[in-house]
Amino acid sequence: MQRKTDYHIHPDYSPDADGVKIIDYCHRALELNLEEICFTTHLEFGPPGSAQPDWLENYIAEIREAQEEFRPQGLKIKAGIEVGYRRGYEKEIERIVKQYPFDYVLGAIHDLAGYSIASAKESPAYFAGRDIRAVRQEYFSLLEEAVKSGLFDAIAHLDIYCRYGIKYFGSQISTIHRGIVEPILQEMSGRKMALEINTSSMSKNLKDFHPSKEIIALAKKAGIKIFTVGSDAHRLNSLGRHIDAALALLEAFGLKNHVFTRRIASPLS
Ligand SMILES: [Zn+2]
Ligand SMILES: [Zn+2]
Repeated sequence: MQRKTDYHIHPDYSPDADGVKIIDYCHRALELNLEEICFTTHLEFGPPGSAQPDWLENYIAEIREAQEEFRPQGLKIKAGIEVGYRRGYEKEIERIVKQYPFDYVLGAIHDLAGYSIASAKESPAYFAGRDIRAVRQEYFSLLEEAVKSGLFDAIAHLDIYCRYGIKYFGSQISTIHRGIVEPILQEMSGRKMALEINTSSMSKNLKDFHPSKEIIALAKKAGIKIFTVGSDAHRLNSLGRHIDAALALLEAFGLKNHVFTRRIASPLS
């Protein structure tokens, strides 16, 4: 039997998540036979309403309590963070990720030109005003900077632009990585970074996970060996969703699921 993990979970510290407590996700994880879970609360920088990291102390403390409580039951619980990468905030990101004892620092591109492309509300304003070449250029140049910043252990939902971009550009959006993602994957491979298989796409009616099989194949070709799987749960019933299928996909590619401890990866099987 595959050893199941969920390495992308948003508890009630994320402003856009339902108010699900860390402890409630842990109980659910036991029911789902998850062996290890990692909380990845959002850390966003910039405009008003963004996270003030004064809650990080409590967040880590609450994870520590959960670790103690669930240790006898065999559930491993990790402290992670999902950082929305923004140009110009590298020093601030570095300060925070060094200040707290994170197991896993997940980097994500959420904001382009001041709009969240991962949000149903904000993405129309971004996509409607742009042609597909501009989306491609803007997304991948920021992704390249995020990778080269050296701040992250893994990249979350690499082709997240497909989530809402498909409404504006149709299936064309799912091929914009061609010819531009390859050197970025090479860079990730050289830096021993992980690539996340994010299953949230399934509830948005996309055919593939984030990223698509085509990009996973390119990642393998580029030599990336470290992969994680995550549901991107913002509510309790999303925890662990489609993780079995993501693990099966990794296996079909001959790739291994990984876990992280104090930012060091190890294969699960
Ligand atoms: Zn994200
Ligand atoms: Zn997330």
